Amino acid sequence: MERGDNTKCLHLANEDTGKHYGAVSYPIYQTATYAHPGVGQSTGYDYSRLQNPTREHLEKYIAQLESGKDAFALSSGMAAITLLFEIFEPGDHIIAEADLYGGSIRLFNNVSKKNGYEFTYLTCANDDIEKHIKENTKAIYLETPTNPMMRVTDIAAVAEIAKRRNLILIVDNTFLSPYFQNPLKLGADVVIHSGTKFLGGHNDTLAGFIVTANDEIIEKLRFLIKTTGAGLPPFDAWLLLRGIKTLGIRMERAGKNALEIAKWLKNQEHVLDVYYPGLPDHPGHEIIKKQARGFGSMITFNVDSKENALKILEKVELIRFAESLGGVETLITYPTTQTHADVPEEVRIKNGITDRTLRLSTGIEDVEDLIEELESIFEELE
Ligand SMILES: *Cc1c(COP(=O)(O)O)cnc(C)c1O
Repeated sequence: MERGDNTKCLHLANEDTGKHYGAVSYPIYQTATYAHPGVGQSTGYDYSRLQNPTREHLEKYIAQLESGKDAFALSSGMAAITLLFEIFEPGDHIIAEADLYGGSIRLFNNVSKKNGYEFTYLTCANDDIEKHIKENTKAIYLETPTNPMMRVTDIAAVAEIAKRRNLILIVDNTFLSPYFQNPLKLGADVVIHSGTKFLGGHNDTLAGFIVTANDEIIEKLRFLIKTTGAGLPPFDAWLLLRGIKTLGIRMERAGKNALEIAKWLKNQEHVLDVYYPGLPDHPGHEIIKKQARGFGSMITFNVDSKENALKILEKVELIRFAESLGGVETLITYPTTQTHADVPEEVRIKNGITDRTLRLSTGIEDVEDLIEELESIFEELE
């Protein structure tokens, strides 16, 4: 029987638990290099840019949680996406979701294009992806739910197109984490994570991951990580290992808080729209129920004026006005000037991001306290 998701956050299958003096917490191998037992011999580790035992241990956890064959731990989510895009060649065309994390769009438009890649941005939840596939198309790049508009794309349906047209399907699974959604099991080829968010979970460490079961991609990435050198340092890998132990209970709790807050927001006179896929009237509700085990803890909402949006950001105290998401503390952001500031304005508007749009990442506080703070702020809105 396959072990449950909470057990998989705490124990590796087939782990030799007798090693390391039986240490229950995996040791931090804070070393740059490894002495050779003799000429032409290796302990299995030669230099930490190539591999480090603590990083490798973490990679095994990520591969296990996403049902991949191998995983790669990088120094940030953006480092992971950057490394992955080294598998393409100048002239390659990539179909990407239009409503992506702002940093991904900045990378594609300012770095990847310079390297000769071509992009077509689509609203993958609604658009006809197949119509935009060209002779040089190599990959489809999704986020679901999208950031920040929370649109839900049917991963299995896109995977069917990708398989038939021989394209690599990449899914950035940051928003739901492997605890709630496993794109590889739905037919995707590669999964990306910003480990900074739910996997780390404590707003204290940057990390990024690539997971795949494709041997050809694994071989290319092992060469690339040793060559380009953005592997996650051992101490940061240990912090991620520690964070992952509680991934399940954090996801459950934060998701429960999000559902309550989303319902509360829906009844506020100053709130015009609430985008949370856990609400039954969300257009992606049935799809997310089919492909995921939870709705996550990201809520985007529009208030009735820019002044009110700014007032909320200024008045929050318990809820922190900060970029990032997925940690134990509740954070609120203003996508238009923060996370998505580098997305071209016309694209931002087309995606539905306005100066009245706020994004909330609910943490694991007592939900009554979060709602009480919002209530007292909303009473003062005009
Ligand atoms: C934060 C984020 C990234 C980038 O990750 P970093 O760890 O900040 O570099 C990529 N994708 C999504 C969906 C994110 O939320």
